[in-house]
Amino acid sequence: MRVLLLGGTAEARRLAGLLVADGHTVVTSLAGRTSKPLLPAGEVRIGGFGGVDGLGEYLRGERIDVVVDATHPFAATMTGHAVEVCGALRVPLLILRRPGWTAAPGDDWHRVASLAEAATLLPRLGHRVFLTTGRQGIAAFAEVDECWFLARSVEPPEAPAPKRLEVVLDRGPFTVDGERRLMTGHRIDVLVTKDSGGSDAKLVAARALAIPVVMVNRPAAPDAPTLSSSEEVAAVLRAGSPKVDT
Ligand code: NAP
Repeated sequence: MRVLLLGGTAEARRLAGLLVADGHTVVTSLAGRTSKPLLPAGEVRIGGFGGVDGLGEYLRGERIDVVVDATHPFAATMTGHAVEVCGALRVPLLILRRPGWTAAPGDDWHRVASLAEAATLLPRLGHRVFLTTGRQGIAAFAEVDECWFLARSVEPPEAPAPKRLEVVLDRGPFTVDGERRLMTGHRIDVLVTKDSGGSDAKLVAARALAIPVVMVNRPAAPDAPTLSSSEEVAAVLRAGSPKVDT
């Protein structure tokens, strides 16, 4: 099958490897946000499609048999476009979404609906903040003058940004020991993260240090068949093209 894999995540890279090994023709699509992306097996295209019309043209022009959306759980616009276009063109769509995180005993988590809500809540919880919301999430905290921020991202943030900001450019995976050292070394007293799922090293470290966590909830789940691992998606495609709901 000719598979369009909407990527930008570790599980998308893993899935590309599995699908290529199974003999599918795989084109991974990346948004182009990072200057040195980790490249998966198979073909790669980089850059937006040009909205729903552009995505529709791409699917028709490239004779795509199935789309797998393995974008980040917070890439809601891309996922919304995939659901809309695949529904209209009757191209099968599978969503790959890693499960979100669940609080454990002893955790002091504060769930919020948005980055803006996180910014409002923050000064009541702490004043030395470890911000792990990604480069695009940093701007939401630009007006929080009460707090000092340590922000970690793959690419440097752009303005607007908090006045008191230190940036650490790094890409996971991270270890619990490393996260613990980073938080202790910067006297962090609150962690902000999106509910991305995947490695929970920073959450385990925050638990051990009794640091509160502001957890930004995921956007609404997409209305399409959803699987939680690369292996499950590969198994479905091994069995043939998924059916399109009538
Ligand atoms: P988004 O807000 O959902 O998408 C905005 C626009 O970016 C889309 O309309 C599309 O442009 C383009 N786009 C997004 N993902 C694309 C892809 N895989 N291939 C081609 N175009 C894509 O997306 P986002 O939150 O900015 O995320 C961008 C990329 O970074 C995604 O691939 C995602 O997996 C990855 N990522 C995101 C996060 C996060 O926290 N949001 C974290 C880690 C990685 P057109 O309308 O022109 O097609």
